[in-house]
Amino acid sequence: MAIERTLSIIKPDAVAKNVIGKIYTRFEEAGLKIVAAQMKQLTREEAEGFYAAHKERGFFKDLVDFMVSGPVMIQALEGENAVLKNRELMGATDPKKAEKGTIRADFADSIDANAVHGSDAVEAAAVEIAYFFGK
Ligand code: UDP
Repeated sequence: MAIERTLSIIKPDAVAKNVIGKIYTRFEEAGLKIVAAQMKQLTREEAEGFYAAHKERGFFKDLVDFMVSGPVMIQALEGENAVLKNRELMGATDPKKAEKGTIRADFADSIDANAVHGSDAVEAAAVEIAYFFGK
């Protein structure tokens, strides 16, 4: 199986709920290693750049407002099938639809404040990791 890297962000809602450690435990117990990490207050410019693919969507401004509403915890995760594994740990975008036992089912309140981000493909992961951690 392929060793991959993926970008994960613990969003402001989950940081405010004080569950960084609980979420890290899920990564570690699933065999994902935290190989880089930084806590950061995103600027609007950084949040807009990160979510540039969603610029035309109706929820874009609310998403940026939310992402700058407090500090986020950003990490690169490494392991076998890291991209898909992290998406499975996260659960569906809308926590109401997320499977029981997933991070979003357990810690997220709504489709906007949904606790975590995770890259959706290996190529996207490389771009997103470089966005925050450089090469
Ligand atoms: N989002 C939102 N409203 C929506 C859809 C998405 O606020 O109707 C936000 C939500 O925070 C989501 C992010 O936009 O996590 C990116 O959306 P995407 O479809 O890429 O979902 P994800 O990959 O995060 O599951």
